[in-house]
Amino acid sequence: MINQRINRATYDQVMLPIYSPADFIPVKGQGSRVWDQQGKSYIDFAGGIAVLALGHAHPLLNKALQEQSEKLWHVSNVFTNEPALCLAQKLIQHTFAERVFFANSGAEANEAALKLARHYAITRHNPYKTKIIAFHHAFHGRTFFTVSVGGQPKYADGFGPKPADIIHVPFNSLDAVKAVIDSHTCAVILEPIQGEGGVTPATAEFMHGLRTLCDKHQALLILDEVQTGMGRTGKLFAYMHYDIQPDIITSAKALGSGFPLSAMLTTEDIASVMGVGTHGTTYGGNPLACAVGNAAFDLINTQAVLEGVSERHRWIVDELQAINQTYAVFSQIRGQGLLIGAQLAPLYAGKAKELLALASKHGLMILNAGADVIRFTPSLIITLEELQEGMNALRKALDEFVKAE
Ligand SMILES: *Cc1c(COP(=O)(O)O)cnc(C)c1O
Repeated sequence: MINQRINRATYDQVMLPIYSPADFIPVKGQGSRVWDQQGKSYIDFAGGIAVLALGHAHPLLNKALQEQSEKLWHVSNVFTNEPALCLAQKLIQHTFAERVFFANSGAEANEAALKLARHYAITRHNPYKTKIIAFHHAFHGRTFFTVSVGGQPKYADGFGPKPADIIHVPFNSLDAVKAVIDSHTCAVILEPIQGEGGVTPATAEFMHGLRTLCDKHQALLILDEVQTGMGRTGKLFAYMHYDIQPDIITSAKALGSGFPLSAMLTTEDIASVMGVGTHGTTYGGNPLACAVGNAAFDLINTQAVLEGVSERHRWIVDELQAINQTYAVFSQIRGQGLLIGAQLAPLYAGKAKELLALASKHGLMILNAGADVIRFTPSLIITLEELQEGMNALRKALDEFVKAE
């Protein structure tokens, strides 16, 4: 099974040096377990960064992919296709939305959302209504527009002139938004829980306040649910916890549960400013991706899975608190559903990556969210045995971690 000529060193010889992948190379996955080239097994609490909502190699996703692969892979948007129409119907039926645009990644869905918000404001209002309000530490993807809207300037700097009229203010500060929102504002965009930025949930007061401010200034409220959507927080979409209606949401990661697929959802009124040729993508909504998306949707959007997310949340948080009794490494545990962040105590500030490396040594895949937060985004259907085994590995990793201090 081991391909002797391919190893981690190969990465540095052939790939653009934009990532620093772990030392081992995964070759096989089943449920929440992964094996590397040497046959060592790992429990997967990372889930491909909140993508693998149904774990690895789910039999019904495999079946959907295989069946579709024998019928029709791709037709382009010169033709429509049954799996895409079917998935769009499901998304509309179970959300506020009335219109759907499919793309292939979170960044592309957000790019579409931002272009739509600008186009809506310019056609419905005036050409000067272009200001986009976004938040510090936000993450919306890596296209030039989305990375400029994201709240980490270091990711957007060094590429020449940025798209203009984007303003960043502190997250969860309604006063900061009030100070900058005006009649020139076309949209406010946020993640209901900032994922990459450190697993920080938007407060209910903040979300409701933004809705009111957007209504007052005729700006669109865009929720980037790329990470929080499709069951991750225990509801189909995270906005459903807040009792508000957004104008646009985006979904990706778990939408294809491992197959590249994303969507932007909006109302009929907002969608109506777009016409033939206003926006598009070759692959977006292709039959293979949407066949998997349909199967994933049907599996995730059930009471059993969504309630199971909340149960697993409680189990993980209880376990992390018990672990913390022994090791005192976390200063806060936060998040919702199966998007959980554990903030490292000041003594361990900046050391998240070191803990990740120790975890993989002991057979556990976890994530960080910045240098100070450990992030847990496992499969929504991870079993209790897998959870227990993963937590045992985490204890072993922490043993070494605190001793190194
Ligand atoms: C991952 C992520 C993105 C970017 O998605 P890609 O598929 O990597 O383009 C955008 N927004 C949020 C909130 C994300 O978590």
